[in-house]
Amino acid sequence: MLGVLALAVLTVAAADRLFGHSTLAFAAAIIMLIIANAPMLRFNCPACGKNLFFRGPVVVPWPNRICTRCGHDCAAPAPSQNR
Ligand SMILES: [Zn+2]
Repeated sequence: MLGVLALAVLTVAAADRLFGHSTLAFAAAIIMLIIANAPMLRFNCPACGKNLFFRGPVVVPWPNRICTRCGHDCAAPAPSQNR
């Protein structure tokens, strides 16, 4: 989530330079954050349910391939639990 937040801040900063200060860019960044976070929260380990973006106390902007809690290979096709 922190990576997405940094990306959003960068987007706001870039838009700020390009178009001047605008609340529109800020609103767009917030919408982007929500859109980016929605699928992120669904990246859970199929075995133990741990969120794959958390590595211990650290949040990373990309999901883990191997679960840090139970060692499950999350890149392998998961049994159909969501549709
Ligand atoms: Zn797990």
